[in-house]
Amino acid sequence: MAKHQFQTEVSQILHLMIHSLYSNKEIFVRELVSNASDALDKLNMLVLTDEKYKGVAFNPRIDIALDKEAKTITISDTGIGMNESDLVENLGTIAKSGTKAFLEQLTGDQKKDSKLIGQFGVGFYASFMVADKVEVISRKAGEENAYKWSSMAGSEYEIEPASRESHGTSIIMHLKEDESEFLDGWRIENIIKKYSNHIPFPIFMDKEEWVAPKEGEEKGHNEIVNKQINKANALWTISKNDITDEEYKDFYSSIAHDSGEPLLWMHNKAEGSLEYTTLFYVPSKAPMDLYRVDYQSGIKLYINRVFITDDEKELMPTYLRFLRGVIDSADLPLNVSREILQSNKVMAKIKNASVKKVLGELAKLAENDAAKYDAFYKEFGNVLKEGLYSDFGNREKILELLKLNTLNSDTPVMFGDFVKNVDEEKKEIYYITAKMSLSMLKNSPALERFKAKGIDVLVLNEEIDTIVFPMVSEYNEYKFINVSDAKLEASEEEKKEQEEKAKGLESFVGQLENALGEKVKKVETTFDLTESAVCLKIDKEDPGYMMAQMMKQFGQMGGDIPPIKPILQINPNHELIKKLSDSADMNLIEDAAHVLLDQAKLYEGETLEDTAGFIARLNRIMAKAL
Ligand code: ADP
Repeated sequence: MAKHQFQTEVSQILHLMIHSLYSNKEIFVRELVSNASDALDKLNMLVLTDEKYKGVAFNPRIDIALDKEAKTITISDTGIGMNESDLVENLGTIAKSGTKAFLEQLTGDQKKDSKLIGQFGVGFYASFMVADKVEVISRKAGEENAYKWSSMAGSEYEIEPASRESHGTSIIMHLKEDESEFLDGWRIENIIKKYSNHIPFPIFMDKEEWVAPKEGEEKGHNEIVNKQINKANALWTISKNDITDEEYKDFYSSIAHDSGEPLLWMHNKAEGSLEYTTLFYVPSKAPMDLYRVDYQSGIKLYINRVFITDDEKELMPTYLRFLRGVIDSADLPLNVSREILQSNKVMAKIKNASVKKVLGELAKLAENDAAKYDAFYKEFGNVLKEGLYSDFGNREKILELLKLNTLNSDTPVMFGDFVKNVDEEKKEIYYITAKMSLSMLKNSPALERFKAKGIDVLVLNEEIDTIVFPMVSEYNEYKFINVSDAKLEASEEEKKEQEEKAKGLESFVGQLENALGEKVKKVETTFDLTESAVCLKIDKEDPGYMMAQMMKQFGQMGGDIPPIKPILQINPNHELIKKLSDSADMNLIEDAAHVLLDQAKLYEGETLEDTAGFIARLNRIMAKAL
């Protein structure tokens, strides 16, 4: 028996393992199973590529054995194994770069440190979180001798000759008094399912099963059966052509916890400077928490098939939060922490490329399967719109995925099709946005001059539209212009005529302003209307308007925003305006001023403050007409 000293860093790590309050102890299973899987991967490769290992049998399996009496949990593999010098090298020192820096980072603040350890992913040494004594019996593939490494932490370990039937490694953990929860088969099986279900090798464990009574027997009994407890099938690593639709769907239901079928999936393997695989699903129905701030992320991050996290919302942008699936990369360190993940260049590249891929696939779907795209858009179109302000770099692509209502079309059209009909010279995309019914918005007086000229306009009536579209200023070389800001050219002759008409109405405008007082900011003539007599306009320079827009963006709808005084615009060409302006009946003008303001409000979808007053005035006017 030979005694060995741990490298200083190892002793420090072990000390932390044992003395830091560690909240997520179960991950020792993940770490050891991941090591076992690596050992199997290594042997697999050697057997396939190295003459020396030609005769070595490769029967990959990982076994977990629980001994309630002895209070041990043993994790064995049939992998590459370790000889004496491997044991010294691998389990007595830490080769991992960054260990020193990691240890220096530790402050002695217990709570913070325990978190750091979790992120560091200390591999094999995690066993000491739950065990006060650990034994490793290992035999290297192709060699005769086996060795036993053992330690009770502290500063030293021992190595002695041992025997093992064939190559591989067994880690025997003597559990601490208060860690007996890990002797429960269900508990272990759940941990395996959570972290290691999709490692490529089978994990076996003894399970107690109920056997029904046979003929002649009175009672059934429990029997111990050795069973595979993981799927051992990293679906995303399999070539697309070898995966059936059924398998894709099964996998979806297991990772999305959704019994419905996915609408579509995108399986992509990137090779080259960065190697990673993504498998994304779009659910058929929006998840319940889609519009909750505390929604659950649906993307799982694996590093080389080892589960890392499913609780990282930054893996994909929030406007794609409906996606479910997996990102697996070999180019990230297994010990990646949340903080590192967010600033990690590899992760950022994977994210960017994945977003482009997803947007590209959605564009293909829109082109090839309109019905399916409609189903997608119905559920997630509005979430996608959020990307218009949160993902500037992909704004054009996101716009192209939108299906929007327009003035000249009875059904929503793809944005790209709308743009095709925009005036080539002017390159102006006109839009109107307000939260109201589509038919009401389409009938807005502000659209009359567009109707008269046959110009198409995006009619955006969802709440999200009113928030995002004012922030979209351009698409390629096209400008986005709110209808109220649009300048539709009039000829010189027309302009002259308009000026004269406006002049002739000046005193009438003054009369209306007097009648309405504080109810309006001002009254003005407009030649933008063709059918209506009046309409309302909001002055965008009004500080109240800007304030209201800001509050909207921060999600505070309504609330204490002071009402903004509108501008009442009148149409000099309208019969009613013409006649009224000729009238000398001041009582009539007084009543008409209020009725006109009220009807303009009704057009905007507003409710009247004083319905009784409105009706009384209307009745007085009608009585006069009779
Ligand atoms: P990591 O796995 O991150 O390298 P560990 O501390 O978990 O760090 O393990 C250190 C090394 O010990 C591994 O790199 C590997 O060479 C060796 N090792 C651990 N477990 C096994 C095993 N089950 N079979 C063979 N070698 C192992």
